[in-house]
Amino acid sequence: MTETSKSVLTRSFMPATIRNEFPLLRNNSESPALAYLDNAATTQKPQPVLDAIMSYYGTVNSNVGRGYHRLGLAATERLEQARAVVQRAIGAARPEEVVFTRGTTDAVNLVAEVAGRRLVGRGDRVVVTGMEHNSNLLPWRRLCDDAGAQLVVASVAADGRVDMADFSAALGSGARIAAMAHVSNVLGTVNPITEMVAEARRCGALTVVDGAQAVAHRAIDVAAIGADFYCFSAHKVYGPMGIGVLHGRSEVLAELPPYQVGGGTVKAVSFAEPVSYIAPPARLEAGTPDVAGVVGLAAALTYLEEIGWERIRRHDESLVRTAVARLTELDRVRVVGDPAYDPSGIVSITLDGLHPYDVGGHLDQHNIAVRCGVHCASTFLDSLGLVGTVRISFGIYNTEEEISRVCEALRTVRPGFWTREHPTTRFL
Ligand code: PMP
Repeated sequence: MTETSKSVLTRSFMPATIRNEFPLLRNNSESPALAYLDNAATTQKPQPVLDAIMSYYGTVNSNVGRGYHRLGLAATERLEQARAVVQRAIGAARPEEVVFTRGTTDAVNLVAEVAGRRLVGRGDRVVVTGMEHNSNLLPWRRLCDDAGAQLVVASVAADGRVDMADFSAALGSGARIAAMAHVSNVLGTVNPITEMVAEARRCGALTVVDGAQAVAHRAIDVAAIGADFYCFSAHKVYGPMGIGVLHGRSEVLAELPPYQVGGGTVKAVSFAEPVSYIAPPARLEAGTPDVAGVVGLAAALTYLEEIGWERIRRHDESLVRTAVARLTELDRVRVVGDPAYDPSGIVSITLDGLHPYDVGGHLDQHNIAVRCGVHCASTFLDSLGLVGTVRISFGIYNTEEEISRVCEALRTVRPGFWTREHPTTRFL
């Protein structure tokens, strides 16, 4: 065994060792220590990601695809190497299928603007599921409103799963676009995405998958999923904020016009002739890219690969199953949906007679960070008949001991300001 593989193995079995590689957690000297359980909102960043960003700025920084000097060429090479790392990590056929965006929201808006506006006209249908985050709902809602098209919502059952018969019915024979989450950010439900994509494509729809909550929890193989587009954000996968990926199948990307126009997109421009644009992905990446962000994303994906997806899955499963078992033993606590069915790092709960914000505030007093509210998915919470939930979301550094702390703290939560004064108030 080589030294490298030995150190990787040692690291991968111990969340406490992994926790030490995250400066924000390592440097937290509070007592009790911060239990960071809001990983579905954003993950903390490990040292190798921070090092990669520092090293890029400290040694290579220069603009890309422009300067004819060594630094400019080196920066361009770093960008393209990182693109190849992302390509391999998500199983894309070639690096050119990886388009860098500002995140999932930006990626979905890109598709809605450049593909949606061409495809969708008056009377057409666009299908989404009832569990979508606003970032994979509002771009389609706006598109339909503008085009005079219909947004059809496939319903989600009380167990948090999409009703597949309803999904097929919504697609019918002529839906133009189907956009769906791979994993729900509210309940952690893992959708049967390959099956859904196949069904949507069989019905002739362009398929868009919001993978924001999937990529940190399982090996992604975009070729096997088979969607036309797959989107995710680096910051939810231990990488930096402000950078994300739109994966597009080559044949589909080739037909897309630019999203924004400007530097880096153009082949020939003159005042007399029509403008001609270069091929994707550059055609879809106008302006100076966030090279350090891309480098940080590649470092994050490499870091996770070194730990190993199977181990990450087992860790996730163990935490989610333990949390569900322990939480359901508590009076007043209800686990929403069925997170233990196919664990993906999220457990959402409600407490009888308590507003989620009072619960979140109480947990914060115990130095436990969770998200509470509607999780940018108020339409889903409406369909579940809930004001909101308290969402516990795990990452690779979390431990069973932190679950014990949550359970202990939940025993003493009492009605506070929100429960008494604003029992139905929500923020998005
Ligand atoms: N979709 C889902 C399922 C999400 O959880 C999120 C982030 N909460 C987004 C989209 C939007 O991601 P970003 O804010 O990084 O663009």
